[in-house]
Amino acid sequence: KPIVAVVGRPNVGKSTFFNRIAGKRISIVEDTPGVTRDRIYADCEWLTHQFTLIDTGGIEPSSSDVILSQMRDQAQIAIDTADVIVFLCDGKNSYTTADEEIAQMLRVSKKPVVLVLNKIDQYKKPDHFYDYYSLGLGEPVMISSVNAMGLGDLLDDIVKLFPNEDDMTEAEESIKICLIGKPNVGKSSLVNKIIGENRVIVSEIAGTTRDAIDTPFEYDGQPFVLIDTAGLRRKSRVNENIEKYSIIRTLTAIERSDVCFILIDAEEGITDQDKKVAGYAHDAGKASIFVVNKWDLLQKDNTTFNEFKRTIREQFAYMPYAPVMFVSALTGQRVMQLLEQAIYVSNNHALRISTGVLNDVLNEAMALNQPPSDKGKRLKIYYATQASVKPPTFVLFVNDKELAHFSYIRYLENQIRKNFNYEGTPILFSVKERG
Ligand code: GDP
Repeated sequence: KPIVAVVGRPNVGKSTFFNRIAGKRISIVEDTPGVTRDRIYADCEWLTHQFTLIDTGGIEPSSSDVILSQMRDQAQIAIDTADVIVFLCDGKNSYTTADEEIAQMLRVSKKPVVLVLNKIDQYKKPDHFYDYYSLGLGEPVMISSVNAMGLGDLLDDIVKLFPNEDDMTEAEESIKICLIGKPNVGKSSLVNKIIGENRVIVSEIAGTTRDAIDTPFEYDGQPFVLIDTAGLRRKSRVNENIEKYSIIRTLTAIERSDVCFILIDAEEGITDQDKKVAGYAHDAGKASIFVVNKWDLLQKDNTTFNEFKRTIREQFAYMPYAPVMFVSALTGQRVMQLLEQAIYVSNNHALRISTGVLNDVLNEAMALNQPPSDKGKRLKIYYATQASVKPPTFVLFVNDKELAHFSYIRYLENQIRKNFNYEGTPILFSVKERG
């Protein structure tokens, strides 16, 4: 899904704009329970296009030099992660020095940018409208987020700038991997190790606007792409201490990947932040592998391995499907096996089973353990079908949705997992009533 990032000074109306687009005019497509995502991130739909909208703003700095440095950070995040950048300005006034500086950064990045003048509450071009041409970002689009004016036209402009989907499928056979985890867990080290040991493919991936920050490489004949590695390497440029920024980075990297390596520090053990990060990957429906890094630092005996694994299973009870690997980015221990695991879980993530075989398995499961009933009415599952992959999603057609209790769905999931290889990927169910 393409990523659209909103950038702008404090008070130009970013949040109002964001809520308009995410909340009202278009539906929020994804609303999975579990880890609640900040409102900085929403899955949106316009006409036939789906995209992810992120708001890079939100932290309101006080002094003007802080504003500027923070806007540079915002803009850098947008440049690193977005397909299309919406640069929001205060249309009530002419542009400011900070706007000029951001415009310069955006221009140099060569990313598609839509310059937007917000707060144009009456449909009349203000005198300073023409000033904005000097930002070098083309014709400004006028909107009023408060009155929801001009938003449809703006969305039309935005979706026109999305990468061509035909071009995107060219990179399809590559397995896209992102490395996520708290600061200092060893993400950059692992990226460098992987890239250092494998042939980096120099040719550009056609049609994506992200060539500069994604690293394509090949291992054992299989093409891979490491997502957002530039963001990792250029760490010092963006203040990673601002939690929101690192969340945006993490979420966008996850969104664009097939497989998430969830890094955990072997020495430190599992922290709350690890759980949050893992929750994002799970919620996004991606294939995942727990990667316990810095394994070289542990004093090990013959129980260490199993103990650690047991703790992971306990602490990440909602992700029993994700394999656990113990590596050292420093020594390179098991780093190549990690890539083999990535191929494996990525295949499972894309596994499709035929309706016939699926229903055989479910019928057998239902015979073994009767569906629940309530007030004399028993759940009937007429039939099931796998509607999609990445993640595997099953639709169950039933007589009464209310009867399809979570625990029974869980049971069916386990039966499916027993019969088919979905290791490494979450499985989703959608229950539909059929008269
Ligand atoms: P990032 O913030 O997640 O990108 O973490 P870095 O890759 O910058 O690593 C943080 C620190 O941990 C650095 O000092 C690395 O040298 C060190 N480090 C990373 N991986 C390993 C490892 O497998 N073993 C050991 N002993 N140190 C590591």
